[in-house]
Amino acid sequence: MTTPWSLRIPPALMDRLTGHLFPGDNDEHGAVIAAGMAASSRGVRLLARALVIAEDGVDYVPGKRGYRMLTASFVTENILRCASDRLVYLAVHCHEGRNSVAFSGDDFASHERGYPALLDLAEGLPVGALVFATNAVAGDIWLPGGQRVVLEHAHVPGRPQRLLHAQPRLSSSADPAYDRQARLFGDRGQDMLREQKVGVIGVGGAGSLIVEYLARLGVGHLVVADPERIELSNIPRVVGSTRRDALAWLTGPSRSPRIRQLGERWACRKTHIAARVARQANRGIIVEKDVGDVADDSVAQRFTDCDFLFLAADSMRSRLVFNALVHQYLIPGAQVGAKVTVDKENGEVLDVFSVHRPVMPGRGCLWCNGLISPGRLQEEALTETERRQQRYIQDSTVHAPSVITLNAVACAHAVDDYLFSLTGLLAPGTSDAYRRFLPREADFMLDNPRRDPDCTECGAGPKGRLGAGSGMRLPAR
Ligand SMILES: [Zn+2]
Ligand SMILES: [Zn+2]
Repeated sequence: MTTPWSLRIPPALMDRLTGHLFPGDNDEHGAVIAAGMAASSRGVRLLARALVIAEDGVDYVPGKRGYRMLTASFVTENILRCASDRLVYLAVHCHEGRNSVAFSGDDFASHERGYPALLDLAEGLPVGALVFATNAVAGDIWLPGGQRVVLEHAHVPGRPQRLLHAQPRLSSSADPAYDRQARLFGDRGQDMLREQKVGVIGVGGAGSLIVEYLARLGVGHLVVADPERIELSNIPRVVGSTRRDALAWLTGPSRSPRIRQLGERWACRKTHIAARVARQANRGIIVEKDVGDVADDSVAQRFTDCDFLFLAADSMRSRLVFNALVHQYLIPGAQVGAKVTVDKENGEVLDVFSVHRPVMPGRGCLWCNGLISPGRLQEEALTETERRQQRYIQDSTVHAPSVITLNAVACAHAVDDYLFSLTGLLAPGTSDAYRRFLPREADFMLDNPRRDPDCTECGAGPKGRLGAGSGMRLPAR
């Protein structure tokens, strides 16, 4: 079995490409995609980073052998630019049709004539060709050394998400356990959930709910990361946690501080509880656990081949890394959380809300929306060192108020949105606004995210992360 190769295309780039390839004239048109790359045990992902439109009659002209072709100068200019930017050159054209597409004999003959020379210019990177129909894509990728691979699928991580194949896919026989929900999104939807690898960053109050929902829905593979152990005061919010997990007999108020500290040190990991909850829901599920912090590069790397990411940790550093993962690896995501603000002087409750923020590649990010504070990033780096020095000397942590139902509102909404987007039930053109739930006012608000075109965290410029893949460092330690 060879490694599957796939392509991810940010929604805005896909819109531009579709507009050029299918203007309604039923004719062929051409373009070039420059793509970053990311490889893992799940396969190689090509990550569309830039689109160069081939102008009809200038760059895309009647062919000598086939119907149309890219001019030699257009090809040369683009392959040299790709090689110097360390990006994969992909020549694009279109055929008529809707749900299936294939290269013609002329197409393959032209690859065989031209691609060995292109590989020489590509300086060790693959080169390839893509042919699109309105809802299908086929790809012929040439690797250095001459081996050829077929593109398995293309994924547009927008709202709704789109999966394009060369031929329509058949659904497998249904698992009767999922009959009731498969009646909503079909056996194909259930297959898609089983094939998904979803990352959950932080499995405390909010993350534990997300794990429960995903596992019960039938998601096949989870990656969870959380450096913390369960505490007695987490049990009212962490799904599946017990007093035994928290070593309540050692950590109760009647114990001496020394014994309590010992209990806290040996209490169950939150990731362990999350994995247990997931397996109770779905015996076949794969759960990868990491007891590190996503702010560390080795932990962040585990999420680079996920299909969706949920951020349920509340540090600024985790927001920064999550935000970078979404854009650099073109993985759609959602940030969830709940916040209660209390007056420090008199304890009066000032503000209560839950949030669900969809974060889609190329659609504006947590950084350009002011949700990652550079000041707090610095603070976190400082207090972390301090905490390490003081860890077992004094208990100085002050916890903010937190309630399971506040988390549940945001988490259920976020997982619902993921589910509807993945299975194609989300109506096209639905808002990607941040949602804010206000339980005191019994109200709901939408905040439209901004997109700063010069943002280096989500932009596609030379320094931007969009689609850069493993060619750029993550902002993790
Ligand atoms: Zn063709
Ligand atoms: Zn941004």
